[in-house]
Amino acid sequence: QKAAWAKLVNQPTLTADGHQVELAANIGTPDDLSSVLDNGAEGIGLYRTEFLYMGRDQLPTEEEQFEAYKTVLEKMKDKPVVVRTLDIGGDKELPYLDLPQELNPFLGFRAIRLCLHQQDLFRTQLRALLRASIYGNLKIMFPMIATLEEYRQAKAILEEEKHKLVEAGEQVAGNIEVGIMVEVPSTAVLADRFAQEVDFFSIGTNDLIQYTLAADRMNEQVSYLYQPFHPALLRLIHNVIQAAHQQGKWVGMCGEMAGDPLAIPILLGLGLDEFSMSATSILPARNQISQLSKSQVENMIEQVLNMNTTEEVVSYVKDKFKIS
Ligand code: PEP
Ligand code: MG
Repeated sequence: QKAAWAKLVNQPTLTADGHQVELAANIGTPDDLSSVLDNGAEGIGLYRTEFLYMGRDQLPTEEEQFEAYKTVLEKMKDKPVVVRTLDIGGDKELPYLDLPQELNPFLGFRAIRLCLHQQDLFRTQLRALLRASIYGNLKIMFPMIATLEEYRQAKAILEEEKHKLVEAGEQVAGNIEVGIMVEVPSTAVLADRFAQEVDFFSIGTNDLIQYTLAADRMNEQVSYLYQPFHPALLRLIHNVIQAAHQQGKWVGMCGEMAGDPLAIPILLGLGLDEFSMSATSILPARNQISQLSKSQVENMIEQVLNMNTTEEVVSYVKDKFKIS
């Protein structure tokens, strides 16, 4: 098995009938890169920049961030690198920011909400990213977007910082794609409108599941409701992909679901373009996809989307693809 996977390291990801998708890796620090490259990732689908800010007692400087982003972009050469701007709050705390305790941190002051409020912090990160952009194939992604206004405001701030850098004689790449995480149900529902303004989507199922089923992803007592295969979630994913493709935009997924062997046939059938997962899942996923046919997985989608329960979806897929 391992030997068969090793042959796939430098191969493109193709279904048995020749449809191509991209398998990317999720990383937290530049230290993760050797494993990413050894496992044949075609890009970075999610660079969680929180780790640069955690385990220390003050904010990272623009220079420190610039070095980290530059390292990642250079090591990945021309492969795409999606960097997510700071997603702090929820389960990730930064003691030195001195944020008030909240009753519902997952519904509270986190990610883009905090960045749009503490703009100095956000602008520093954006400047570091823009300056690093000339070293590789950078794409910038905003987390936890719930409204179009949030996206427009974040994008406008990015454009402002870019303009200032260019005025000051700094070099900035000309073609940086800007996208959003789809992890709040309002955004998944309104995907057709977002698709007119963003360059890409990446579906964050870790959060999208918890918000769709109203089940805290950290609370064991309600973990039975944390259902990746719930038909409601699958319909949201379907809506996002359809909306994006209608506007000629691409869609990735960077939640845990993207690397789940049970989810892969469904996601492929729904038309997902990029799957981002932990590095060690990439070769098994590439192997699995090489044995699937796009037309076969497409043909089951209507039926799956019309199922009533998670149980129905799971047993259907397990049975059809002989997955235990
Ligand atoms: C997600 O929500 O699916 C995601 C990838 O982001 P995180 O797990 O960092 O919240
Ligand atoms: Mg998330």
